Amino acid sequence: MRTLVRYGYVPFMLLAINGAGITIAASGGSKLWLLGLLLLAIASSFVAERVLPYREEWNTPHDDDHRDTAHATVNETLTLASLIVVPVLTALTPFDSLWPHEWPFVLQVLAAILVADLGITLVHLASHKIPVLWRLHAVHHSVKRAYGFNGLMKHPLHQTLETAVGFAPLILLGLPTPVAFALALCAAVQLLLQHSNVDYRVGPLRTVLALNQAHRFHHLKWAGIGDVNFGLFTLIWDHLLGTYSYDPERRFTSDDLGMAAKPNYPNDYLAQLAEPFRASGACTDEPQPEDVTHRQPDAATH
Ligand SMILES: [Zn+2]
Repeated sequence: MRTLVRYGYVPFMLLAINGAGITIAASGGSKLWLLGLLLLAIASSFVAERVLPYREEWNTPHDDDHRDTAHATVNETLTLASLIVVPVLTALTPFDSLWPHEWPFVLQVLAAILVADLGITLVHLASHKIPVLWRLHAVHHSVKRAYGFNGLMKHPLHQTLETAVGFAPLILLGLPTPVAFALALCAAVQLLLQHSNVDYRVGPLRTVLALNQAHRFHHLKWAGIGDVNFGLFTLIWDHLLGTYSYDPERRFTSDDLGMAAKPNYPNDYLAQLAEPFRASGACTDEPQPEDVTHRQPDAATH
């Protein structure tokens, strides 16, 4: 069973869950099926983490389970609301004839993933460099354990910003609503995989896909050190930006995660929503421009 999870969990999520979602979206099936698939993906994440945990103690709530449920519920509801707006926005674009409607549906989704991945990666990178954006993004970096469900844990304003930039070029090109729904499901599944506490293996794909082995380096708590592996779906843009970092020998504990400069970050949901707008939401150790120049992508290996 553990071997099945080790090598079968990621293919199940990427091929079976996403594949079913893409098939349903392509056929115009009820969107409730997509919601059902999302719930199945979340349930699968919890089950796989019990079968093959990367760290046993990360399966135990750190006084964060109710908060993360609130984050996930609010953020996925926001995503649904965004999807309802997609056809309204695409009706306004003069470039909708540029969308490759003639491509097979699955290729349209894959192309949309690559385009969205660039926008989301750039917003994420900027959120580590620009203080006002870091205030919002710090909510996500306050986690003290990495498990699938807390991939959906972020400030709703920051999620809205990421979604807006990721989807903007697609909307301009006339993004079909069914492709948008499939893309949203794939993004949620990717967040579950990226933060997963499952000790799964994907072989050399770990250098291309933005999965948990690489993403844990992004959650290292020291300013500058964690400024690596920003990608959501892929690490392609990190390789091109010079922000890719990986060490196969590195193991992580809760002591490595979080924010060294903010060890007492608020833990409750409403307090986390307010924190970016409070004086304490600022950080004297926020990355400054010179950190970009002097950042050592492989510093996490030392
Ligand atoms: Zn980040």
